[in-house]
Amino acid sequence: MSTTTRIPVLMYHRVGEAHNDWERKYCISPQGFAAHMQMLHAKGWQAVSLDQFMGWLDARHELPEKAFLLTFDDGFLGVYEHAAPVLEKLGWPATVFLVSSLIGKRDNWCEQHNPSGATYPLMDADHIRALQGRGFRFESHTRQHADLPTLDDGALHAELAGARAELTALLGRQVDYLAYPFGRYDDRVAEAARTAGYVAAFCTQPGFNRRDIARYRLRRLDVFGTDSPAALLRKIRLGSNDGSVGNSLRYHGGRILARVGLANS
Ligand SMILES: [Zn+2]
Repeated sequence: MSTTTRIPVLMYHRVGEAHNDWERKYCISPQGFAAHMQMLHAKGWQAVSLDQFMGWLDARHELPEKAFLLTFDDGFLGVYEHAAPVLEKLGWPATVFLVSSLIGKRDNWCEQHNPSGATYPLMDADHIRALQGRGFRFESHTRQHADLPTLDDGALHAELAGARAELTALLGRQVDYLAYPFGRYDDRVAEAARTAGYVAAFCTQPGFNRRDIARYRLRRLDVFGTDSPAALLRKIRLGSNDGSVGNSLRYHGGRILARVGLANS
């Protein structure tokens, strides 16, 4: 078995019905999600748990080629309703980043971003506890889905440490990982995450994670609701948010040229 040297992390948001172009980007239909997972499985990809991913990152063990980590931001109810049954059939684990002050409420921060102003339900404590027994791991997406770099030091610490305390109480286990809301962070935010006790944090910069990746800048690929299974396969192979055929040709063309010593440096 060959082992991997780089692991992609996939990021999904809502699973359900989309009603406009913005939602079609950040929401995938239940059928579309099932098609994504079935394609990955058919192509030999294998979802690993957050603990396996971190253990590999810290060089405590190896993982096979085509290992990937599956994450969902925000904790939408649709993950419970539509994604969990698909993943359970495959025996695949997943990690969900929760907004600790909005458990059982709605994604009110999206009112500003969604052109229709519509909001959608988030999982409540019962949904979360049920999924904890079904291969799901829950971690922090701050208290209020805050735009962290805009906060002063006190508010920043309250968002980070507060979410950790609230989620630890909800889940009955320690919360060690963070996903930055909107993917927004800077050096001060990363340092505050460390001070608040997080072991590592995920951003939204695309690319693969190799063992030398900075622990508070773990990379993720943004999977859109409009991505076909073929586009997702190109993304996960290339470590890019661009799943177009052209990008795939450029990437593989560049690798061939590099192999024969013709690539531009
Ligand atoms: Zn989010």
